[in-house]
Amino acid sequence: MKKSISILFFSFSILFCYADVGMWLPILLKQKETEMQKLGFKLTAEDVYSVNHGSMKDAVVFFGRGCTGEIISNKGLILTNHHCGYSYLQRLSTLENNILHDGFWAASEKDEIRCEGLTVTFLVYMEEVTHEILQNVENAKDLQERDQIIEKNIEGTIAKAIEGTDYSAIIKPFFYGNQYYMFVNRVYPDVRLVGAPPENIGKFGGDTDNWMWPRHTGDFALYRVYANRDGEPVPYADDNVPLKTETFFPISIKGIDEGDFTMVFGYPGTTQQYLISDGIDLVVNHRNPPLIHQRGARLDIMKKYMDLSPEIRLMYANKTNTISNGWKKAIGENKGIKETKILHRRDKEEKYLEFFASQSADATNRYQLLSEIKALYETYRELETKAVTLRETFPAIELGKFIETVRPLLREPYPWSAESKAKLLRHAEKFYPTYYKPIDKEVFVELLDYYFNFTKKEWIPASLQKYAGIDREILQAMAKQLYDHSVFASAEKFTKFVETASKKEIANIHKWLNENTMFLDADLALAALNKNSYTENTLPNIRRQIDAKYKYWVASAAADPTGRFFPDANLTLRVAFGKMEGFSPYNGMVYLPYTTTDGILQKENPDIFDYKVDRKLRDLIIYKDFGNYADANGEMRVAFIASNHTAGGNSGSPILNGNGELVGINFDRAWEGVMSDLHYDITRCRNISVDIRYILFIVDKYAGAQRLISEMEIRK
Ligand code: ASP
Repeated sequence: MKKSISILFFSFSILFCYADVGMWLPILLKQKETEMQKLGFKLTAEDVYSVNHGSMKDAVVFFGRGCTGEIISNKGLILTNHHCGYSYLQRLSTLENNILHDGFWAASEKDEIRCEGLTVTFLVYMEEVTHEILQNVENAKDLQERDQIIEKNIEGTIAKAIEGTDYSAIIKPFFYGNQYYMFVNRVYPDVRLVGAPPENIGKFGGDTDNWMWPRHTGDFALYRVYANRDGEPVPYADDNVPLKTETFFPISIKGIDEGDFTMVFGYPGTTQQYLISDGIDLVVNHRNPPLIHQRGARLDIMKKYMDLSPEIRLMYANKTNTISNGWKKAIGENKGIKETKILHRRDKEEKYLEFFASQSADATNRYQLLSEIKALYETYRELETKAVTLRETFPAIELGKFIETVRPLLREPYPWSAESKAKLLRHAEKFYPTYYKPIDKEVFVELLDYYFNFTKKEWIPASLQKYAGIDREILQAMAKQLYDHSVFASAEKFTKFVETASKKEIANIHKWLNENTMFLDADLALAALNKNSYTENTLPNIRRQIDAKYKYWVASAAADPTGRFFPDANLTLRVAFGKMEGFSPYNGMVYLPYTTTDGILQKENPDIFDYKVDRKLRDLIIYKDFGNYADANGEMRVAFIASNHTAGGNSGSPILNGNGELVGINFDRAWEGVMSDLHYDITRCRNISVDIRYILFIVDKYAGAQRLISEMEIRK
């Protein structure tokens, strides 16, 4: 009897490790090589990642601060998603020269435009440094001392690795600190825009289609990395030259079909595959709901005004993009978790553990650990709910945020120095031109009404309790006072005030600031929750304690010699592999694995901004003028889905065929599987990519940018 129970328990203990499919560290890919080859991969792990000779990893870059890009010529040409460089496209756009709306194609290298602040990062090498980082930690008396030792070890290891080079390095924990890896990088700060399609191609379908299949979005843009003549990373300079890139991805226009091997190579941001049921519950029932409500309210207001004028659209394009992406993802995540019943399943597995705990010592220990994690979640839930409601409310009100930015300067005593005045004016110059008052005034009322009237009273910090239950009419009156009558009402009013304020006026603003502390109190409450303390009840402290327990919870997965378990994504380079395949999202429904340009014409609607199709594209599609890029049936493929495990950050990642040739770029996931950061389900999780042939068709036939085509290695 005892024996059969322990066998049973062993199988359950595998269940408790949860993760499936995976995002693999390229350095460990050897473990996956046979599996990949069985699926159709014709190369080796060494071709993907090698420190001895050029390998695929040399052609994959971390683009900006959260995306992936790939090198597609020997002159540093980078392909990534349109949405990855969206903020740069917006910043470079004016109403007269509207790159977002009209697209941009540099006629020659000298027309390529500098994107200030944009960097691309090449991985030089990675290595496991667990031993170095965990040295001496066993002597630590508590978590704080342990962290200090780790911090010191990290600093020392990095310093040694980059000494005498122009590299930078970063060390990250894996499996909650069971392992550590170092990534040694070379960061290039001169990156220029080469080409981008207009928004009605690059963002076709807009927020409506975002996170959805079937998709018809040409989500791509081209950039180039520049360096000095020796190929070294240097800041922007006129005489910088395109970086010579010996390793780049050849492009296949043979295309792929259902069942063909696919591989995604890039920088997935965050996954949490090993959470216990309380962890999933925290995300779907406590973090996502207030986020969904507050962002949804903001978006409705913003969109209403954006439809009124191109100027407002341009002003709010990037803001809505960012808000909306996370908002819709949270909705999809909750839906996916509910439909896959994963919360219920994990809860049940945990109940099994409880049952077996009385029968085996192993199970007792594990159950003990589980109970400790669960107990910590009680505090975590409460802190997180308070923080997320605050975070999605107060910093989202633009004028409130501006007032808090300038508050310390305004609080200075009379007379204000020339330097303080100049600083205030600079803040105003930055803020007012990208802010549209009627939007923010409505957002103010909507968000505060929800916060003070529809969230739980006990979540509201003491300093804000006086507003709990406040009448909407009073909020409207407050908004009128602030947005129409205060010195913050307009750029002109604020500028005049700063330039001419008398002693009395400065005394008045001090009084006003002393009396109007709602935003300040919210900021302070949020800062208190986020304080990096080892003794108080704060989010970093509780997370640290939970993670320290998870370290033991996932230890068996980390130590598994067969390499079945992958470490959660943490914005480090990973390989995901699978195949091009459709799926059945719901009973009685089937999704085909690819879309064609026919779908663009079906979706076309001249009255809806996101579905406008311009004449040139429409003609090319109608007359099937697809150049070399049509498929065997003479159709133009736009996007396809595949079973590669991806996450945010994989946006822009190369999607490669079995020969390591570029067949597309990853840009999204299908709605029914958006919960894959918490639970990957192969039956419904699919990543979405733009077919490389559609990209080439747009560059070549639509934009006429043959100079770029001739730089690439295109294989038929
Ligand atoms: N479209 C997604 C994003 O922007 C990419 C993904 O998460 O799959 O985050």
